[in-house]
Amino acid sequence: MIDFHCHLDLYPDPELAAEDAGRARIFVLSVTTTPKAWRKSAELARPYPRIRTALGLHPEIAHERLGELALFEALAPEARYFGEIGLDGSPEYRGVQRQQVDAFEAILKIASSSGGRIMTIHSRNAASAVLQSLRRHSDAGVPVLHWFSGSPSELEQAVDQGCWFSVGPAMLRSRKGRQLAARIPRDRILTETDGPFAKDKSRPLQPADAWMAVHELAAIWRITGEGAQAQLLSNLRRLTASISEPVRHQTSV
Ligand code: MN
Repeated sequence: MIDFHCHLDLYPDPELAAEDAGRARIFVLSVTTTPKAWRKSAELARPYPRIRTALGLHPEIAHERLGELALFEALAPEARYFGEIGLDGSPEYRGVQRQQVDAFEAILKIASSSGGRIMTIHSRNAASAVLQSLRRHSDAGVPVLHWFSGSPSELEQAVDQGCWFSVGPAMLRSRKGRQLAARIPRDRILTETDGPFAKDKSRPLQPADAWMAVHELAAIWRITGEGAQAQLLSNLRRLTASISEPVRHQTSV
């Protein structure tokens, strides 16, 4: 099973969350919200080969952390995955759009000059702006739009630009989310939970809850759960094969 976007370091007991996912042999992309959190988060994943840690700067705090871009750049050679990065166009961030774009594009530039990265990207209320930034940095690697909530035409544009998508139980609970998921090419989709932020009723989702998304996708595709699982695993293999390990292989996570 795959949880391609999860905040392991933000669970009340991060070690336990990592251990549960590691024991269940779930592939987890553990994302971080600031470069300062990266080392410690990567440490959590060390005993579990299927847990990878992404280097991130979350758009909701990017404007307060522009000073950490230098640290981001310094750590970039060790990180095969970038995220959580992106833009958030919600009303509360209208005043800091410029800083968000500056941070996001600085990171895309780092990705380009590092030979490309697999990137898990936030685009709430900002799908078109995210796609525009990605067009300006087309060598940045492979974008995976997490919990996509744009319009059908923005989704079509994203597909044309080569984006992938990760969908979770929270997204697939809504009719709009299921309709968007149905439009995503089957060979460009992965599952995620976005735990512990995303919840099932009031319970924070855990990586093992990605099965709910597998189940929903199987229903959308009108195939069995095993069939959906096989499709998703083949997608993951293709995605990870598309970007090579960073050169500093011995320290990569
Ligand atoms: Mn997230």
